[in-house]
This record gives sequence, structure tokens and C-alpha cells, in this order.
Amino acid sequence: MGSGKSFKCSKCDYIFTSMTGVGMLFVTQYQRTVEEIKAGKFGAEWQRFFEEHPDGKVDCGRELLVCKYCGVPKTDTNLSLYLPKEDSKEKLSEYPLPFELKEEYTLYAKFPHKCKNCGGACKIVTDVKKVTMNCPECGEPMKEDLDLSSICWD
Ligand SMILES: [Zn+2]
Ligand SMILES: [Zn+2]
Repeated sequence: MGSGKSFKCSKCDYIFTSMTGVGMLFVTQYQRTVEEIKAGKFGAEWQRFFEEHPDGKVDCGRELLVCKYCGVPKTDTNLSLYLPKEDSKEKLSEYPLPFELKEEYTLYAKFPHKCKNCGGACKIVTDVKKVTMNCPECGEPMKEDLDLSSICWD
């Protein structure tokens, strides 16, 4: 169910490959992410969320993110927090997929993803054609490498 895209720097040949979506090990990934949140890996606010909202959920889909300042991309777990809607309590799945969260749940908080390169804020890329991604090695813009793109994982 996941899909991959590759981007190549025209100057130094650095290749960035991003696998996004949801893999077959989704339940395992979901459980591990919740454990990490409860252990405080993603900060006090995220840790507190599951204490205060035992019925809360987290978006465990993999997203392509790009830094708003330096343009360096990364792939990371979405980590947005959701609460069930009042009228949907019957049909909730224990490990909801990202699309289920968007349909059946109310967004509680979006995770403030940070750039590993400059510490700036990252945004989720929804259309790779509309963003410029820069090489983390030399700062030149990277282009999508169509020969390497469209890899399907698991
Ligand atoms: Zn480069
Ligand atoms: Zn940055």
C-alpha cells in the first residue's frame, strides 16, 4: 500500500528516497508509535494526550515533509492526534488508518515536525510538483528521479 519516490541532486548526485503511506506492518508500527509517545519521545504534550484521552488516536501514516526554510526533505510518521467524534463511537477501529482518522475522527493537534538540517518547521508535501526540495549535502534543488520513483514497498 505504500509508495516511494526518489529525488536526485543535479550537482552532487545525492539521492533522497521517500517511502510514504501505510505498510503491511501498520499495526506493529502503530503500537510502537503509541509506546514511544507514552514514553515521551515526542514531547510532554503528546505524552499527556494518551493519559488524558485513552480513546485518542494517532496518525501513523508515513509522510514526505519538507523544511519551510532550507527546503531539505525527510520522511516521518505523521503523528497528528485525533479524538473520536461523538456520533462515531460504535465503529472505531483500534488501529485506524490515516484515511479513517480523517473521516471518523476530529483533529486534535498536528505534530510540529522539525527539520534535522536547520531546526526549522517542516510541512507535509501533498504535491511534489509544487515544492522545491533542496539537497541536504550541497543545497542545490533536487529533481524527482523518475527512473527510481514509483517503487512499491511491501
Ligand atoms: Zn547535492
Ligand atoms: Zn531546514
